[in-house]
Amino acid sequence: MQTYRNTVDGLLSEPVSSYEIFNPANGQSLGFAPQSDEQEVERAVQAAMRAQKNWANQSDQERRDITLKIAQILEENSDYLAELITREQGKPLSGPGSRFEMQACVGWTQVPASLELPPETVYEDDERKDTLHRVPLGVVAAIAPWNWPLMIAIWQIIPAIRMGNTVVLKPSEYTPIATLEMVKLINDVLPAGVLNTVTGDGIIGSKLTHHPDISKIMFTGSESTGRQIIEASAKSLSPITLELGGNDAAIVMPGTNIKNIATDLFWGAFLNMGQTCACIKRLYVHEDDYETVMAELSAIASQMKIGDGMDESVLIGPLQNKMQLGKVQELVTDAKGAGCDIREFGEVPDQGYFMPITLVGNIKDGQRLVDEEQFGPALPIIRYSEVEDAIKSANRLEAGLGASLWTDEQAQASELATRLEAGTVWINQHGAIHPMVPFGGNKASGYGVEFGIEGLKAVTQGRVISIKK
Ligand code: NDP
Repeated sequence: MQTYRNTVDGLLSEPVSSYEIFNPANGQSLGFAPQSDEQEVERAVQAAMRAQKNWANQSDQERRDITLKIAQILEENSDYLAELITREQGKPLSGPGSRFEMQACVGWTQVPASLELPPETVYEDDERKDTLHRVPLGVVAAIAPWNWPLMIAIWQIIPAIRMGNTVVLKPSEYTPIATLEMVKLINDVLPAGVLNTVTGDGIIGSKLTHHPDISKIMFTGSESTGRQIIEASAKSLSPITLELGGNDAAIVMPGTNIKNIATDLFWGAFLNMGQTCACIKRLYVHEDDYETVMAELSAIASQMKIGDGMDESVLIGPLQNKMQLGKVQELVTDAKGAGCDIREFGEVPDQGYFMPITLVGNIKDGQRLVDEEQFGPALPIIRYSEVEDAIKSANRLEAGLGASLWTDEQAQASELATRLEAGTVWINQHGAIHPMVPFGGNKASGYGVEFGIEGLKAVTQGRVISIKK
């Protein structure tokens, strides 16, 4: 069985120890991932420090060209990496699965390559001229999760590298293999030390984020880890971009043609088996449309084949890990105990971390499946009678990543959208992120944004050059 390796200072690192990675669809071993120790974290940060000055001194055009070469490598190796993602993470090759994740990796690499942050004259009169330059921060610590392991890593590392920073990336201990292979491939076109990895559990993540030479932390994951990252940053005074997931509400406005939106609602909730930060996690439906919504979603769910995502006909895979499966099952059991209407769809294989697509009706605000982020394929569908009440419900939780309104009357929705407390409010779509459009949370969903020009600014610091005339 293969032992995958970290890349440190441009070289594959000999692991001190390793641990086994299993396919969540069937329990089969996929090989071994290295377990980094504190010395490896130190070596990776030092390599990134040494490489940073030269990397920052390369011309913008050189860094842009290299970023485009990275996009090409990702494109050329899409099939290989998509298969690794499916075997390791569980999302199917087909549909909005691992091939889709690889397309996103390519797009989110090409777009930062196409953008630039030239110096900006912010003030000028007869006596002075002030120009704002954007300069790199230094070494970026990137801490990635297991739900979209490559795409989220790319969101973190590409803008950082593009702007002249160097990176130490720690993938989730659940999904390191595809990331290590991707980083190994990318390193072919990068100077040694620009992009390094360390692997292991949260303790290794913590060693990295506590390192005094880290100048920026990019984190996507749970709120509780996010709070620990904030504490860690005190040591180095690192700025942080925190993407902490959400509990996104979608509101279907009264009288909307449900047939037209049902497929988008379904994938808005069940993309990646619901293990997506900006999935629909609470669906608010007017009481007059409730039965129609239930019927339409049930019809779609009953057509989905659940299974090992290497099978091209499968669109719904397993959950990524046992912890997550247990968490979602517990929330569904709680709803069952409270007498909710539980409707389960799909034939679930005997082995692997599978669960049926689950629609949960007759459920209310205050119940656990509504109030806690399920991060899995169980969707609570809540009736409302007044739109005002649905808006209040959507805003009542601390999470504020995304929200959506579904309607045939867009003008009314545009006004209501401004009242939803979320980083992004979508109308007639959900989770429709784009590499040019800033994305980030409000309230407890984090702070800072990724993507587009704002995302590039987030991996730089301002330097004003002020000239007396
Ligand atoms: P975590 O927040 O624990 O994991 C996210 C990343 O942080 C992983 O790489 C993890 O490493 C790392 N990490 C863990 N502890 C520390 C630490 N103290 N310092 C630095 N890095 C650390 O999420 P979980 O995997 O435990 O999932 C828990 C819940 O988080 C899920 O049920 C879901 O609700 C939410 N979540 C949200 C995501 C999102 O996209 N916003 C993504 C993943 C989870 P390791 O995995 O090796 O422990």
